[in-house]
Amino acid sequence: MSTPSTPTRRHRVVVIGSGFGGLFATQALGRAPVDITLIARTTHHLFQPLLYQVATGILSVGDIAPTTRIVLRKQKNVEVLLGDVETIDLAAGKVTSHLLDRETVTEFDSLIVAAGAGQSYFGNDHFAEFAPGMKTVDDALELRGRILGAFEQAELSDDPEERARLLTFVVVGAGPTGVELAGQIAELAHRTLAGAFRRIDPRESRVVLLDGAASVLPVYGGKLSAKAAERLEKLGVEIQLDSMVTNVDVDGLLVRHKNGTENRIESQCKVWSAGVQASPLGRQLGEQTGAEVDRAGRVHVNRDLTLPGYPNVFVIGDMMALDDLPGLAQVAMQGGKYAAKEIRAGLDGARPADRQPFKYFDKGSMATISRFSAVAKVGKLEISGFIGWVMWLVVHLMYLIGFRNRLSTVISWIVSFLGRGRAQMTSTEQQVFARNAIDMLQEHSRASAAESREAG
Ligand SMILES: Cc1cc2nc3c(=O)[nH]c(=O)nc-3n(C[C@H](O)[C@H](O)[C@H](O)COP(=O)(O)OP(=O)(O)OC[C@H]3O[C@@H](n4cnc5c(N)ncnc54)[C@H](O)[C@@H]3O)c2cc1C
Repeated sequence: MSTPSTPTRRHRVVVIGSGFGGLFATQALGRAPVDITLIARTTHHLFQPLLYQVATGILSVGDIAPTTRIVLRKQKNVEVLLGDVETIDLAAGKVTSHLLDRETVTEFDSLIVAAGAGQSYFGNDHFAEFAPGMKTVDDALELRGRILGAFEQAELSDDPEERARLLTFVVVGAGPTGVELAGQIAELAHRTLAGAFRRIDPRESRVVLLDGAASVLPVYGGKLSAKAAERLEKLGVEIQLDSMVTNVDVDGLLVRHKNGTENRIESQCKVWSAGVQASPLGRQLGEQTGAEVDRAGRVHVNRDLTLPGYPNVFVIGDMMALDDLPGLAQVAMQGGKYAAKEIRAGLDGARPADRQPFKYFDKGSMATISRFSAVAKVGKLEISGFIGWVMWLVVHLMYLIGFRNRLSTVISWIVSFLGRGRAQMTSTEQQVFARNAIDMLQEHSRASAAESREAG
């Protein structure tokens, strides 16, 4: 008598995050005989490098944030779940996520953790109330509302001091995001909005770019940093270097300079782009495996991007610490593809001990400063100005997901860069106030819960 064969279960892969790391890992497993569950707290894949163009009215949200389940519609071995992963139990092989009150537990044989990073205020989280960061679609839309709202309020004010405060925009952090944002706010004020108001002249706006470091774009260094600073100053951006923000409130911020002096900048619209903090899931993984977690919350991974004692658990992208690799999209994409390759190899019988270490191929980095001007560093090659800008356009288009998105992005760029129009200048009251309102509600419900615990 023969025993009827039971169909063997397929290998289960759980991917946390639909950003560059998570999406590329999932797509690289497209033909593998595995069942993938991709869990993310947003329904979209976000192309973060172009968020600043959403914040400044050039691109629409849809251009840079396609719906993940539609991107993956044809990949039949994947299911996409919306949820916030709160617990990872490595020993039990389970991930627990929540969507509102609903809890979902998903089991895995292999896990790829690509939950990215949020903004860091270096221990001053209260700054966030008045100087939001720019990491999510919500952040970019809120910022758009804050920028445009400041111009509207200035138009209504007869008080010169108040007008000056409303027309002063401060960007904290002169890395690529800060530089791009400051450049675009300046162009918005000087080109797009010029002539659109009757009582104020938007061209009189002050855009300040602050950084504790001694140069803008410090990672590019030397010539490129100097070129970027020169171009920003031509646009009218005021650069304050060696300057640390020591406090932020509703009407401005306090800045301490290298020589010990302190001054206050009156400004309603402040943006924080000064630091990153990896997903708190990293700490959980560190506690369960003994892997070191650095100050930015990144988990030190083995050379095959896995955790000590767990060759089936990969941590990639902005969450991983390995060889001082930077928080760049390419690091996350290549990490995702590597993890997928090793999972596939494991199904074919390869042993984790025989894995080749992850090797990052540096394709260079670039930042745009304004229309027709960008800086790029590819190996030893340094490029700036118009050629750098064209390279920037091509590279960003290449990595945008979907033909429709590329097409609409090109059209928006033509409108904004050749003309002076911007198609995405709508903002709503809810976009501006929702974040703080939600924070207040959560604070209120935490306080009520604490009160009822004490009472009974
Ligand atoms: C404004 C900005 C501009 C940038 N510009 C550039 C640039 O020009 N060039 C460049 O190379 N890099 C740039 N970067 C960096 C680049 O975007 C990141 O390095 C890259 O996105 C990292 O990919 P990731 O997959 O690790 O994380 P992310 O792309 O951030 O994805 C994280 C994913 O995890 C999800 N997630 C997070 N926590 C949870 C949870 N608890 N449960 C479920 N899901 C969760 C998120 O919703 C998201 O889907 C920029 C970043 C920002 C913010």
